[in-house]
Amino acid sequence: MTAIFARKALIHKGWATNVRLGIDAGRIVELAEDARPEAGDTEVGVLIPGLCNAHSHAFQRALAGRTEKRSPEGRDNFWTWRERMYRLAGSLDAEALAAIAGQAYAEMLISGYTSVAEFHYLHRPAGVHQPTSAMFDALREAAGQSGIRMTYVPVLYERAGFEDPQPQGQQAQFSMGVDAFLEHHAHAAAAASDRLGVGIGVHSLRAVTAESLQQVANVAAEAGIPMHLHIAEQQREVDQCLAHHGRRPVRWLLENHDVGGNWCLVHATHMDAEETLALAATGAVVCVCPSTEANLGDGLFPLRDFLSAGGRIAIGSDSHISINPFEELRWLEYGQRLASQSRNVAALEEAHVGRELFSRAHRGGARAAGMPKAGINTGAPADLVALYDDDPMLVAHGDETLLDALVFSGYRLPVDRVMVHGEWCVVAGEHVAGDSLRRSFAATLQRIGASA
Ligand SMILES: [Zn+2]
Repeated sequence: MTAIFARKALIHKGWATNVRLGIDAGRIVELAEDARPEAGDTEVGVLIPGLCNAHSHAFQRALAGRTEKRSPEGRDNFWTWRERMYRLAGSLDAEALAAIAGQAYAEMLISGYTSVAEFHYLHRPAGVHQPTSAMFDALREAAGQSGIRMTYVPVLYERAGFEDPQPQGQQAQFSMGVDAFLEHHAHAAAAASDRLGVGIGVHSLRAVTAESLQQVANVAAEAGIPMHLHIAEQQREVDQCLAHHGRRPVRWLLENHDVGGNWCLVHATHMDAEETLALAATGAVVCVCPSTEANLGDGLFPLRDFLSAGGRIAIGSDSHISINPFEELRWLEYGQRLASQSRNVAALEEAHVGRELFSRAHRGGARAAGMPKAGINTGAPADLVALYDDDPMLVAHGDETLLDALVFSGYRLPVDRVMVHGEWCVVAGEHVAGDSLRRSFAATLQRIGASA
């Protein structure tokens, strides 16, 4: 058994001091408050539970910072960005995916995420004949090398759009018949382990038929696993859904499916007031990805109304334009402040916005990843983030404002150590395999000509 002594820790019931944790076989087996450090303990300042990055397309890490140039037409939007993203997908084999994802996952760990839900539709490698499972194996390899806990979410992608039954161009790399997809899901589920969970999903309402969506949702319900989909990221999707189904996306989904607590709706950006209330009442998690949604010009999620109605949220770094959970939480709140010309918008259950957003993202993320026991408590996985308590960002902050400081007052993070499943992946702010992951990432970008 290994032990950690934290001068301060955010445990299941709130802040506690002088907390000693015993860890065995990847789980917290002992928790004592007002304890003393013992010989051999790893002593840390502030200990908080790791967050789940509930929506990731790891391969898009290779695109970060490469799509910020105005096109000659000057009409750049999500759909023009998507063309650039498709070109990247068209350059990736399994080896490249493993290297890019390994770097993305290491960056997640050093910024305080300890788990990731990998929403995966890039099923076919470019240019070489490799089986569908090769891309899954690449993600598994990346998760293993970085140490992050992964919930693999294979995603069905059948068609180009509501009225367009065939995938087009690069979408051939994503597309799969529903039978082959379910076979792949069963293959992945059989590989599940302590550190690898498996969910299921569909890309979006436009990318699958209503019948296939039902089949996939049935598998999720029967297996009791998370069910993910992109729901309403762009106004154009809403318009197309209205034209095809006569309903807005969230409304159509709620009328046609038994949406409940195992569902994770990514980018529920465009909802009217009725959809917002109805979705909140289902218990489903909405995964908001503020840095990506801002970067792509998606729109603003109706956070206050959704939370007021009892809605659950998680956060994701999605396209990985930025990988920092505290920045996501900051922009989640800042978007609302800018739109409402007011302050402290997300503080509903708690007086402090940082505390409330952290706690909501932790609970919602764990649910979206299918991890019911997350948190600092006996029996929970030992997924922990240790912060320097003498860092100027945190020093002299007490229980009430410490998470406010972490969310709002910094660009750089005072992360000391990060543990996943009882193993240290980050020590003194550095990923333990950071050098080799960085080298593979750099060599891969060179090989695929990412700068072009
Ligand atoms: Zn996405």
